[in-house]
Amino acid sequence: MTYDYDLFVIGAGSGGVRASRISSSLGAKVAIAEEFRVGGTCVIRGCVPKKLFVYASHYAEDIEDAKNYGWTVGEATHDWKTLIRNKDTEIDRLDAIYHTILSNNNVELYQSRAEIVDKHTVKVGDKIVTAEYILIATGGTPVMPDVPGIEHAISSNEAFYLEEMPKRVVVVGGGYIAVEFAGIFNGLGADVIQLYRGEKILRGFDHHVQQMVAQEIVKKGVDLRVQSNPAKIEKTTTGLLITLEDGSTLEADAVMYATGRRANTDGLGLENVGVELKPNGAVAVDPYSKTTVDNIYAVGDVTDRVALTPVAIHEGMAFAETVFAKKPRAFVHSNIPSAVFSQPPVGSVGLTEAEARQEYGDVDIYKSEFRPMKQTLTLGSERAMVKLIVEPKSGRVLGVHIVGADAGEIIQGIGIAVTCGATKEQFDATVGVHPTLAEEIVTMREKYTGE
Ligand code: NDP
Repeated sequence: MTYDYDLFVIGAGSGGVRASRISSSLGAKVAIAEEFRVGGTCVIRGCVPKKLFVYASHYAEDIEDAKNYGWTVGEATHDWKTLIRNKDTEIDRLDAIYHTILSNNNVELYQSRAEIVDKHTVKVGDKIVTAEYILIATGGTPVMPDVPGIEHAISSNEAFYLEEMPKRVVVVGGGYIAVEFAGIFNGLGADVIQLYRGEKILRGFDHHVQQMVAQEIVKKGVDLRVQSNPAKIEKTTTGLLITLEDGSTLEADAVMYATGRRANTDGLGLENVGVELKPNGAVAVDPYSKTTVDNIYAVGDVTDRVALTPVAIHEGMAFAETVFAKKPRAFVHSNIPSAVFSQPPVGSVGLTEAEARQEYGDVDIYKSEFRPMKQTLTLGSERAMVKLIVEPKSGRVLGVHIVGADAGEIIQGIGIAVTCGATKEQFDATVGVHPTLAEEIVTMREKYTGE
């Protein structure tokens, strides 16, 4: 049986674009459908604009710090509209690059919504096309809980396009997005209250990272309130009135929910072909990203494995090699380095202390907490932390966790060492780069025995 395409990809985000490009380079005839802009969450309303906002917001502190380094600084003000305009220009540039990547790789782009009709047929706009394989790479979307007045709240999607910079912001959630945006709005001069329903923000991170980030963001001005959650939101003449579950009230100009994301599977026609979903609505896949239908695969956030762009890219490449190079490759979701662009940022790879203890029993901990050198002249109070988790028998470094400037940059290289199975002895044998925050990673000799 011949088909119009060897591969039809639904969703032109990081995973879909990479899978289509590699599949095409392996000789497949490929088409991709995208109903919004090419680039996906990361490029359009995720990692990229978020990082630009983080840079923008950090200048407030940098300008203050500059004074103690001898700079005379005039009154600094921030223009939100300039930031938004320049960010939009950059996103347009990246969107154009993605279009070029697709066309240079002979991937045919359909700028419409696609729906699966049967296991080899897709309706895309008003066309019907057939494909031997279908790849679902439709990503995720913010979850807005069912709170009275939730229509007055925004998610990160809208935060990137606000007309005005809100002066008083309530951020709801304690995960990546909440912590990052609390820091962004705080740095840009808003009064920020962050509400987290639990006790410790950044659930799933090492407990020392959780403690350190909570401590540092509060020092920088974020009013972090744990065990606190909105019960309703009302519009008033002066803004928004938020009534919390304990009955107390807050006023704000914007309420931003960052309470998780869910897979984009609605209206894809998955029920037409019997693609099974997990209980949370994500597409269920095997280690090769194959769904319960043997010619339909799924990669990226829609599968809710590890919702990170580089992971979607790896899953996309592994899919292409498995199907079109006939070299089955299952991407292993372990030792994935990641960063939280909180202020200060976090870089982590491998196991947390709690995970390591559960898996290995006894583990050795090395931890150093200190004032980064830059702060010595600024008299700033920001602190940094480096922590290693080591398996005593083999000496293998199981996890590395950093809180401090450039932690995201540092952890990339450490991720290679941890992926290679480096031991503490090998870390110790590595010469430090002086004076840096990162040198602590190779200079800690005393085991940490505290909690
Ligand atoms: P997360 O899952 O990280 O965090 C969601 C937060 O919202 C948690 O603190 C959760 O609390 C809380 N929450 C969930 N439901 C409710 C509710 N009904 N009411 C109040 N609070 C609630 O999701 P994010 O939206 O922050 O990010 C989504 C994913 O995107 C991340 O998991 C990450 O993989 C990715 N991402 C990565 C980034 C990076 O690499 N730097 C940046 C941004 C996103 P609880 O802990 O109690 O469940």
